[in-house]
Amino acid sequence: VMRSRVLQWRVPSEFPSNGATSRGGSRKRILVTGGAGFLGSHLIERLLEGGNEVVCVDNFSTGNLQNLRGMLRNKRLSVLGHDIVLPLDAGTFDEIYNLACPASPPHYQADPVQTTKTCVLGALNVLEIARISNARILQASTSEVYGDPTVHPQPETYWGNVNSTGPRACYDEGKRCAESLFFDYARMHGVSIKVARIFNTYGPRMRPDDGRVVSNFVVQALKGEDITIYGSGSQTRSFCYVSDLVDGLMRLMASPDAVNGPVNLGNPAEFTIGELASIVVEMTGSQSNIVYCDLPVDDPRQRRPDITIAKDSLDWVPHISLKDGLSQTIDYFESAVANPDDRHPL
Ligand code: NAD
Ligand code: UDP
Repeated sequence: VMRSRVLQWRVPSEFPSNGATSRGGSRKRILVTGGAGFLGSHLIERLLEGGNEVVCVDNFSTGNLQNLRGMLRNKRLSVLGHDIVLPLDAGTFDEIYNLACPASPPHYQADPVQTTKTCVLGALNVLEIARISNARILQASTSEVYGDPTVHPQPETYWGNVNSTGPRACYDEGKRCAESLFFDYARMHGVSIKVARIFNTYGPRMRPDDGRVVSNFVVQALKGEDITIYGSGSQTRSFCYVSDLVDGLMRLMASPDAVNGPVNLGNPAEFTIGELASIVVEMTGSQSNIVYCDLPVDDPRQRRPDITIAKDSLDWVPHISLKDGLSQTIDYFESAVANPDDRHPL
């Protein structure tokens, strides 16, 4: 029997989970799976600032306790080492954010069966906690449910173009199945669900070796290494800064029950990957060369969110421009490159 590893477990007496933190009160007891990752750690920071009690569950496969540095002293944070593929008994909650899942293609493809299990069995396990707790639960879904989209920009009504047998399928189909489980739990058990379709998001606390394009380009530029454009660089992505994205997740969680989604969350400003490389070179003043490598299989040609629903129902739009967000991100990686032992291994 595999057991969870309790790294930091507190049930502070001033925040009992038996009513004082129930939904409707200002202080809530909130579960964040994948809380030691990039997005999860920023979300936990905001939830703690709001006075909530937070339980972080993570298996530290792509995440790192260093991401929670500065928060670990907070008595309202508990951290539990656990794989969400396995059922979890961590008490009851008012709200659950399900973020556990590797997000970078090289990471989610490294063990594709584990990725599918994390998406599907993980969703089932947290939905059961939501059902038992009568908690509101938010799923971190993804623009990858649209696959290589033939509709542009992508509205939530587009059903997508996913290759179900390719190397990205473990993630794309896993996330699609998780969405269907969320809606079935809402229909069968009346669970209050929220499904966010997150588009490419970047910022501090991404791993330098994460493998996604923003971290790769910035780290390569800062180290004077070749900048690796996959394919011709004409494919597009729309990049959202992490603080905007976390704000969108929290607004979705706080929205009326009728707003269950799916809701696209992302920045509609669209760039080619070639443009991104030029911007990073210019902003870092790097001497790096740009080199062209093979395009990965099934790499989507274009991606841009239609955020009409988020605007209308959450009053949410992103505010941070690519240049402002990149400037924060470059500062972070400058210090990570200078002190490799301090954060993640480089
Ligand atoms: P990340 O890899 O930094 O974080 C994922 C976290 O989940 C890590 O801390 C990892 O250790 C943990 N994890 C993975 N498998 C687990 C398991 N089986 N049990 C417990 N913990 C596990 O990635 P991120 O960018 O922070 O992404 C967070 C969530 O948002 C993911 O679900 C991802 O699919 C989704 N998302 C992110 C983006 C983006 O651009 N960042 C876009 C779309 C969707
Ligand atoms: N990409 C690239 N060089 C890199 C990493 C990624 O050109 O070093 C490309 C990748 O092929 C894709 C885009 O950048 O077209 C975004 O890739 P990422 O892995 O960040 O996210 P996703 O493909 O999941 O949107």
